[in-house]
Amino acid sequence: MKKAIIIGSGIGGLSSAIRMSVKGHAVDVYEANKSYGGKMRETKKKGFRFDMGPSLLTMPEKIDELFLLANKNPRDYFQYKKLDEGCRYFYDDKTIIRGYTDLDKFASELHDKAGVAKNITKNHIKKNTFIFDSTSFLFLEKSLHKLKTYLSFKVFIAFLKLPFLQLFQSMHSANSSRFKSKKAIQIFNRFATYNGSNPYKAPAILNSISALEFNKGAFYPNLGMFTIAKALYSLATDLGVKFYFNTIVEKISVNDGVAEGVFVLNNLHKADVIICNQDIYFVYKNLLPKKFTIKRVLKQERSSSALIFYWGIKKEFSSLQLHNILFSNNYEEEFKMLSENKEIYKDPTTYINITSKMTKNDAPNKCENWFVMINTPYDVGQNWQDLIINSRKNIIKKINKVLDVSIEEYIVCEEILTPKLIESSTQSFGGSLYGSSSNARGSAFFRHPNFSTKISNLYFCGGSVHPGGGIPLALSSSKIIGELIS
Ligand SMILES: Cc1cc2nc3c(=O)[nH]c(=O)nc-3n(C[C@H](O)[C@H](O)[C@H](O)COP(=O)(O)OP(=O)(O)OC[C@H]3O[C@@H](n4cnc5c(N)ncnc54)[C@H](O)[C@@H]3O)c2cc1C
Repeated sequence: MKKAIIIGSGIGGLSSAIRMSVKGHAVDVYEANKSYGGKMRETKKKGFRFDMGPSLLTMPEKIDELFLLANKNPRDYFQYKKLDEGCRYFYDDKTIIRGYTDLDKFASELHDKAGVAKNITKNHIKKNTFIFDSTSFLFLEKSLHKLKTYLSFKVFIAFLKLPFLQLFQSMHSANSSRFKSKKAIQIFNRFATYNGSNPYKAPAILNSISALEFNKGAFYPNLGMFTIAKALYSLATDLGVKFYFNTIVEKISVNDGVAEGVFVLNNLHKADVIICNQDIYFVYKNLLPKKFTIKRVLKQERSSSALIFYWGIKKEFSSLQLHNILFSNNYEEEFKMLSENKEIYKDPTTYINITSKMTKNDAPNKCENWFVMINTPYDVGQNWQDLIINSRKNIIKKINKVLDVSIEEYIVCEEILTPKLIESSTQSFGGSLYGSSSNARGSAFFRHPNFSTKISNLYFCGGSVHPGGGIPLALSSSKIIGELIS
């Protein structure tokens, strides 16, 4: 039986372990933390439960696929439901726009609240759907770094469509050429943050993300996001995958251009295949001999990070739902601060996720569990203590203004996650949420491949490599590896 070693048990590592096991390998997973999930974690405090990392689920079929591959019924492990409202948007002038996932309903809502003609919204999604349908096969499902990919007819057709996909326009310029309403533009620009990009720089091809939400939907896993990691871990252990927690891989051993194993506490553990779920930056920095370093990877701009306050709130808010965004009054200035000055804007767009709206047990009676997040730059040595104090004040000011409340009175417990803590708890360079940034036009092609071009038997999965960050893409990375290995 061939042996596979997986370094890390984030979503990319868990899904790779399942795929390698289904292929008939004996699989060992080494994880530095005391448990699985990586960025997908949960914490409990004073009767409240919080998902600490990802909060929005899209493309759950990519999770189901792993269970089906293993001849299991996904519903025995993992339940989820489609959301009627993807997000609720709040503006300083007290306008509230409900982000229905049904396009007809959303077009009516944008018409009523922002004066946008229904056909403009529908045409926008139609164009974005064209982008998604034309590119997802190439960018999300295939290795961009193998000649074989470019020899397929489907990919040839995708390339023919590229000139029509607004590669040379930013998301914002495409959106503002279609909408006059500042509110509508802000909603559609916001989809850039799904992979930590800046809508004023990122190519309009990323508008395909909004099409995904309207065509396929947004979902909530019953009992919260962490159940995804739990379900994948259960499937992996049912398949016989062995997990070693609190176990840091210190080096990858390379012999004559072949990855032969990993060093743990100075002991060599040999394997036929090594799949690394660690952020690619640290793989080159720490795990591989210096001569293999690809300098370009160490210099790549990172995606944004986040500052998150997990608040137990002793009050219920009927105006809020599962996903809520309180928009900044000046989105452009906010992104300029984040991406150019590497600072946090004084009027930050504030995202509030409340899973107790869906799972009552996530908060005590008449209380709510608030995950309050703002976008931040990745860590470049900012003074996070000062930034936490100032941002907390600014967030509270924003919430009080938009919701007409004095929120501080209701906070009964608090935990804080910063970019520095994201880095130290998941080894993600700078604490960036989605690996390297997607702001440049060709960034999809500059992401690190899912395999080493210099070392055989060595593969890379997770949000820091192709096709990028976020749960569905991390799952795609392990699927691509599965195809490369077969
Ligand atoms: C606050 C936050 C909000 C997010 N929101 C969303 C969202 O709403 N929707 C969405 O789809 N995505 C979201 N994301 C992104 C998403 O969480 C990740 O893209 C996804 O979880 C994929 O992670 P990964 O496979 O890259 O592994 P990671 O989660 O980065 O895990 C890597 C694992 O490898 C381990 N490891 C690293 N080095 C070693 C070593 N040398 N030895 C042993 N173990 C090692 C680490 O301890 C870690 O457990 C969010 C992320 C964060 C942090």
